[in-house]
Amino acid sequence: MNDTNRAAPPTTEPFIVVRELRKDYLSPAGPVPALRGIDLRVERGEFVAVIGKSGSGKSTFINMLTGIDRPSSGEIIVGGTPIHTLDERGMAAWRGRNLGIVFQFFQMLPSLTLLENIVLPMELNGLFQPRERRERAMHLLELVQLGAHAHKMPAAVSGGQQQRAAIARALANNPALIIADEPTGSLDSRTAAQIFELFRRLAAEGTTILMVTHDDDLARRVDRAILIADGEVVHEHLARALKELSPDQLVEVKRRAEVRTFPAGATIVRQGEAGHEFFVLLEGAVDVFVERPGGETLVDQLAAGRWFGEAALAGSGVRSATVRASGAAPAVVAALDAGAFHQLIESSPALAERLGRVVERNQIRNQIQALTALDFRALLDLTANLRAQTFEPGATIIRQGALGDTFFVILEGGVEVLWQRPDGATVLVARLGPGQFFGEMALLGDGRRLASVRASQLARVVELSRADFEQIAGRSAGFGEQVRRLAEQRRAANEAAP
Ligand code: ADP
Ligand code: MG
Repeated sequence: MNDTNRAAPPTTEPFIVVRELRKDYLSPAGPVPALRGIDLRVERGEFVAVIGKSGSGKSTFINMLTGIDRPSSGEIIVGGTPIHTLDERGMAAWRGRNLGIVFQFFQMLPSLTLLENIVLPMELNGLFQPRERRERAMHLLELVQLGAHAHKMPAAVSGGQQQRAAIARALANNPALIIADEPTGSLDSRTAAQIFELFRRLAAEGTTILMVTHDDDLARRVDRAILIADGEVVHEHLARALKELSPDQLVEVKRRAEVRTFPAGATIVRQGEAGHEFFVLLEGAVDVFVERPGGETLVDQLAAGRWFGEAALAGSGVRSATVRASGAAPAVVAALDAGAFHQLIESSPALAERLGRVVERNQIRNQIQALTALDFRALLDLTANLRAQTFEPGATIIRQGALGDTFFVILEGGVEVLWQRPDGATVLVARLGPGQFFGEMALLGDGRRLASVRASQLARVVELSRADFEQIAGRSAGFGEQVRRLAEQRRAANEAAP
């Protein structure tokens, strides 16, 4: 991903803007929709892969950008030129100066040498001084490692070499935009890799590249991959959020998702309510809050391409946080119902695993935040490396008399605190549940556990070190005080126990 540090100032339009692009092919049975409203923005210097099943509309889309075919409706603006409005002559002139096109099957003129094939477009478009043209053509052939073959006829070189020559030819007019329809589709993998590397270099130097490819590995290595399904673009942020999914699985998610827009500030899910949907944020940003006695505090901020709502679906069914559209812009989400969500998880173990980690991390974050109301950054720092532990019912978590300098916050389930009296009898002094903590007494006292704690049902807890404890106590106004007070109460209660 090298597009992050190349964000254009918000006032400039992207290099390519495609709006509501539609294409119907005419057939005896009536119009056949091949593109059903494509919107796309591409910045200068981006290397974009266009992927999708055969027949999904990739070539149709690409042909609208090259002007080889014309849209039924919609707009295509490239470098400020609305190319959908150009007539044939205007289009040809524009193409000659701005565009390099590469097809799957190299189309070299058979009666010209490779060098002459590359000089030709410069001549046709009146580019460069006549004496510069051969020199430039030679340079381009060297760029694709064909310098030694410059004076051969196309038939005298291999298919891979012809394809590389076709790429050199596409570069002849020094195009700002290269459009390639399966340029490596007929090549062996080594040649394909060379061409990909060449494209990558050109993109790094500022050339914008749109490349249709069937090669998932190549598609993964570019700045962006645009997935086309049935003449529509599957939202890029959906694909990014669910990056473990195959194109087919993504298309299925798109089919089952419902897209909804929430105005800035609107609540999308509310803590404590039952949750039946999973959300992927497609546009805008959301803030995540947890509620605590003093009010609500921020635990996360999510940008497009992130998800939320998974906790309730993966666990208790109750929302563990409140999520609101933030900032000035509306939030656009793709909502999946519980059935689709669970199918999604089953279809991708890798996604399920990542989801499990996110659920755990959020659970830790939310419970700690509910206790501490830390500053948002401090919370992220503190929780970055914490992991949950699970204890079976009856398992001992800490043992009275043992040394310990950690304390525990309960995420899920429950524990029993058992105190062994000086006379040897054991008494149940407390039952604790989610959001409550234990182990603080040894930490505050002489480092020896004053009671045993065992899981009374399946218990998920997070263990914090003395350093974590001190960090929190130092940064959270009420927390240290609260823990000390509670430790005092617990000590008094133990001593008063029958
Ligand atoms: P892809 O490149 O993704 O394989 P295409 O853009 O070639 O897909 O095709 C998209 C759809 O449009 C397909 O259903 C295809 O059959 C149809 N199609 C493409 N070209 C024409 C045409 N000239 N006339 C009628 N239908 C076409
Ligand atoms: Mg095609």
